[in-house]
Amino acid sequence: MENRSIGCTVKECKHNNNGMNCCTLERIEVKCHTPRAESPECTDCASFCRR
Ligand code: SF4
Repeated sequence: MENRSIGCTVKECKHNNNGMNCCTLERIEVKCHTPRAESPECTDCASFCRR
């Protein structure tokens, strides 16, 4: 299974499809970990789960 609409290279996540560089989930949550998002580095995938 893969969701090509969600590209992701975080291979340490159990939801990652290593071969396709994408997520296997139908839906993910993306959150901001700073008071205000100013760059991509301010955001995180909150659906990450360690393999
Ligand atoms: S849950 Fe988030 S970190 Fe994990 S594979 Fe999907 S997009 Fe990547």
